[in-house]
Amino acid sequence: MNIKRIGILTSGGDAPGMNAVIYSVVKNAFEHNLEVLGVYRGYNGLINGNLKPLNLDDVKDIIKRGGTILYSARCKEFQTGEGLQRAVKTCKDNKIDGLIVVGGDGSFKGANNLSKEGIPCIGIPGTIDNDIACTEYTLGFGTAVNTAIEMVDKLSDTMMSHDRCSVVEVMGRRSGYIALEVGVSVAASYIVLPEVEFDKKDLFLKMEKAMKNGKKHFIVVVAEGLMDVFELAKEIEKTTGVESRATVLGHVQRGGSPIAKDRIAGVQFGQRAVELLLAGKVKRVVGLKSEKIVDYDILEGLALDSKFPKDLYDVAKKMF
Ligand code: ATP
Repeated sequence: MNIKRIGILTSGGDAPGMNAVIYSVVKNAFEHNLEVLGVYRGYNGLINGNLKPLNLDDVKDIIKRGGTILYSARCKEFQTGEGLQRAVKTCKDNKIDGLIVVGGDGSFKGANNLSKEGIPCIGIPGTIDNDIACTEYTLGFGTAVNTAIEMVDKLSDTMMSHDRCSVVEVMGRRSGYIALEVGVSVAASYIVLPEVEFDKKDLFLKMEKAMKNGKKHFIVVVAEGLMDVFELAKEIEKTTGVESRATVLGHVQRGGSPIAKDRIAGVQFGQRAVELLLAGKVKRVVGLKSEKIVDYDILEGLALDSKFPKDLYDVAKKMF
């Protein structure tokens, strides 16, 4: 099919690097004389017909900005048959020949549904959680990890001054990639993540052993959604006698100017997505494998096994 107009939306949690993709898609599309429609607030924009043409001027200088100029959202209605049909109708009414969806696993399932209804979709992994199996890297992960490290380093200064233990909850949405990289980078005394069963007694033993060797302040990094970190801090204090505080880093991890890797991957992913649509490929998801851009069928990509870096966890464990 000779394509003339493509759409792009950002969906799920926002991630630094999403703007780099939008810039790349518009620039590459224009090189091939394609028009681009920006769809606002994820799948909501398709359901409500909230679209606007994007020109080179709209994407000027956005590569350095966090967030997404198209805004993002979660949209329950899109998961209903009626919602899906409204989205399909918007695509048809606006003569969208192909749609690029930047988001996580959930967004890709939506893109798969749209493709089945005849709207060719390409998925681009954009989530700070890095929890998409078919790519070694998802947009926003590196920036989020660096932001969290900066925050934990600040906490660590004050914990050291008061001989305290800091229990820090980082993001990850049911995955431990952020917790693991942050934990190793801040020399955490312990890392708690969903991929490895948490042995509380082991944490207390490790802390007590370190205390015997003269250690007085501790950082425990916990992936979100596993436990109440305020309760864990209380238990640590009661069991070890070390005054403990809990901090939930929260959404600060999502913001900020993207690091180089998120900008570069954004440009690469965006270019590949446009090329795939031009080549008539549908229902694909792009990713990074051994520093190369790859693409898979969306369902095949979603079915791949988790890539959790057990080797890195084993390294981390020896450092506790
Ligand atoms: P993140 O990892 O940042 O949370 P995500 O894309 O996985 O990103 P979700 O909230 O799971 O985030 O999904 C985003 C949107 O994709 C949902 O609001 C919904 O509109 C659509 N979606 C999610 N799951 C499905 C599904 N199984 N079928 C169809 N659409 C879905």
